[in-house]
Amino acid sequence: MELTLSEKEAAEFAGVNWSELAIVSHVDVLIAPQSGSVYVEGDEGGELHGAPVVRPAEGEKCARCWKVLPETGTRADAPGLCLRCADVVAEQEQQVVTAVQEGQ
Ligand SMILES: [Zn+2]
Repeated sequence: MELTLSEKEAAEFAGVNWSELAIVSHVDVLIAPQSGSVYVEGDEGGELHGAPVVRPAEGEKCARCWKVLPETGTRADAPGLCLRCADVVAEQEQQVVTAVQEGQ
């Protein structure tokens, strides 16, 4: 997804994880200088920027989180998974091994 923001909006929403919020694989944030704000009250000056543009993401769908990412399947020890999920699965596997070794 491509999300255009005014400078004020970009400052206001600096900490937002847009891909998590919009439930999409990836968000490119574009700043439109001099544009008025659509999402922040009291900043209506300037021409308004465009609406978000949605298009298919590039890459393969991760079998665990379903995000479509270019990195999916690049780790040989975690076929079909993105890097984040590969780390989570490896950590869970390690916890199981540790629990078995400790007899739990
Ligand atoms: Zn994943």
